[in-house]
Amino acid sequence: MIVAIDGPAGSGKSTVARALAAREGLTYLDTGAMYRAVTLACLERGVDPADADAVAEVAKAVRVSFAPGDGGAAPRVLLDIQDVTEAIRTAEVDRAVSAVSAVPAVREAMVAQQRRIAEGHDVVAEGRDIGTVVFPKAEVKVFLSADPEARAWRRAIEREGGDPTAPDAKVHDKKAYKRVLADIKSRDAQDSARDTSPLKPADDAVRLDSTKLTKDETLDAIAALVDQ
Ligand code: C5P
Repeated sequence: MIVAIDGPAGSGKSTVARALAAREGLTYLDTGAMYRAVTLACLERGVDPADADAVAEVAKAVRVSFAPGDGGAAPRVLLDIQDVTEAIRTAEVDRAVSAVSAVPAVREAMVAQQRRIAEGHDVVAEGRDIGTVVFPKAEVKVFLSADPEARAWRRAIEREGGDPTAPDAKVHDKKAYKRVLADIKSRDAQDSARDTSPLKPADDAVRLDSTKLTKDETLDAIAALVDQ
């Protein structure tokens, strides 16, 4: 069984996919983390994200994998043997990741790794092209979106170390929120405009808008599709 959850940055995909994996006993696959890890590898090696040939070489040379997190924590992300779980969540990676993931050879390498990771498992995979390209035959496909403002608000709270699903969650740094909003809008535009595997719903995906939904409501809506 494959559950594909696609959607733009901050739509709640990761939170919901992780909770769904725990609830339904599925393997969780965060494909965005893989593109982020390749991006980090480029930045660390001084490779310009706009240099497609050099970026492609990096993607072919590195191996991204996952190790179980502690208790209910998110899986650790490994770039070869380096634990990059925290290092891939910086604003610098946010800004470079769309350019890196637009390179066709990068996508080819990552999609092959993603299919290998999923082999023989029941999986919930989240990303931008899961239902359209990586697993077009997925049994459940969801396209999860939300208003850019709601998505930026969630991301800004996370960056401040808060929990956006808490009822009293607040953004303290309004300037940081505005920066996150601008970055999210520009990343959405780049992810949607690229030629290879642009961000768009699969024809047979169920569209869900999480702007006004709590995490549990979103989770229940997707779990109902899985249990059908
Ligand atoms: O999901 P997350 O925000 O971590 O993804 C980071 C970036 O990785 C996206 O903005 C997109 O450019 C790229 N990505 C992709 N295809 C996927 C997952 C992520 O191109 N399946």
